[in-house]
Amino acid sequence: MLFAHINLIDKDFQYRENQWVGVEGSRITYIGDTAPDEASAARMGKLYDGENKLLMPAFYNAHAHAPMTLLRGYAENLPLQSWLNDSVFPFEAKITPEDCYWATLLSCAEMARYGVVSFSDMYYHMDQGARAVIEAGLKANLSDTLIAFGETRLKDLPLAENHKRLLRYFQGAEDGRIVVDCNIHAEYTSNPAAVADVVAFAHEHDMRIQVHVSETELEHEECKDRHDGLTPVQYFNNLGVFDGPCTAAHCVWVDDADIEILADRGVFVAANPASNMKLGSGFAPLAKMLERGVRVCLGTDGMASNNNNDMMQDMYLFALLPKGDMRNPALITPQEALFAATRQGALSQGRSDCGMIEVGAKADLCVLDISGPSWTPMTNPLVNVVYAGHGSDVCLTMCDGRVVYEDGIWPTLDIDQAKYEVSSRTQRIISEL
Ligand SMILES: [Zn+2]
Repeated sequence: MLFAHINLIDKDFQYRENQWVGVEGSRITYIGDTAPDEASAARMGKLYDGENKLLMPAFYNAHAHAPMTLLRGYAENLPLQSWLNDSVFPFEAKITPEDCYWATLLSCAEMARYGVVSFSDMYYHMDQGARAVIEAGLKANLSDTLIAFGETRLKDLPLAENHKRLLRYFQGAEDGRIVVDCNIHAEYTSNPAAVADVVAFAHEHDMRIQVHVSETELEHEECKDRHDGLTPVQYFNNLGVFDGPCTAAHCVWVDDADIEILADRGVFVAANPASNMKLGSGFAPLAKMLERGVRVCLGTDGMASNNNNDMMQDMYLFALLPKGDMRNPALITPQEALFAATRQGALSQGRSDCGMIEVGAKADLCVLDISGPSWTPMTNPLVNVVYAGHGSDVCLTMCDGRVVYEDGIWPTLDIDQAKYEVSSRTQRIISEL
């Protein structure tokens, strides 16, 4: 595809008008003020009219539970612990592998519709997750979940075999679109020996780790009671969780010493502002983390606690919340918000050639329709993207050079069937409870 006369957000997160951007295969091969030569243009194929359009890097959702789409709207107005124990866990016990496939497929459709090309997922039945992501044409870092109560070790759990199978069949599949990670659900759902088992496995197989950290005040304080005053960050740091690449979701209740550790160990923190507010968990100290150099990216979390995959909505909250929380309007620039939602998310997934519009980078792009009233005037285009734009302004999403959404059409999947399957499977599960 050759995008003609299009406005874009470049690799330095600067706005440039009236550009030409060429894509060949899975990569961006041309960016310029003028059209490429005829031979190059012929290789790029379809010409895309960029008038009233804005081309930007696609979004990377750094924390998700795609199959939880089944639970959208199911457990509402509950605090996290009772939300999890009384509603979510009993519902999840009824979810089959095929349910996971359909819910992940619908989640992929929703993400593609909102300009998201890749997500980091923590759940179960990840073979089915991989199947859905491959079919939808998206990318994902998929991780099967460690929950290990009592003295249970990794070798005692089906997870041990799941890890091996996922690695064998899916690690690096589809030209790297699928990456298999490890995960540790949380401090309060595992024991130190099992955590150490997962860390050893991850390091042995060069895998990244995803983990929930200090999401609620209760979790943070109970961890200190259980582990001689260690916070979740200190506890996981001592167990080697941060010795390799790691994404820590939430980090709402981290203290100053925790922030030092997260910065020094190069941990990616996936902020989930919508989910944290919806579950009444609080506000992560995002401005302080960014100031200290923590690598903060952005996630939607699951659909039972958001309840949508519109990353632009989370990006809006990401930019707003620290201002209100700290009563300082100077905090979080539009560039910082955009970087967290795109490039930093790609880096958190180990995708160093993704998340920016640059020659040689993967063609992971989204196009925003900027003809609507909320985009005028374009006095400050980046401010418009962060504060005036919506996910529904996305009119095209491209992943590895392939269009996965355009103007109400999902060329890779049957959207009506995906909606029907998820709706009827949710009804079945609720009737079984
Ligand atoms: Zn989560």
